[in-house]
Amino acid sequence: MPPEPYDQYFEAADADHVKREKAKARELRLSAWWKNQLGRGQCHYCGQRVQPQALTMEHIVPVVRGGRSTKGNVVTCCKACNSQKKYLLPVEWAEYMERLRRPGGA
Ligand SMILES: [Zn+2]
Repeated sequence: MPPEPYDQYFEAADADHVKREKAKARELRLSAWWKNQLGRGQCHYCGQRVQPQALTMEHIVPVVRGGRSTKGNVVTCCKACNSQKKYLLPVEWAEYMERLRRPGGA
């Protein structure tokens, strides 16, 4: 881990940042890289096989929390995980992820 001030990513982002990163996300959706990601047909979080058209673009660190629309922060996500991530608090989401990763599932 580089000695970066990670705290900065967890401050609420300003409106300019959100606007800029959402525009970048739209561009990224049109890229060959993203089409490749969709073509894998798999949710980054739960690992389920999903139809490419059922996958959504998801920011690991949400844009509103300072996340960027970069290849390192953007993943494919199934609808189930997408809605979980929206409605859970970050700490609850972390627990959900931990359950998914435990051998044998939930
Ligand atoms: Zn999923």
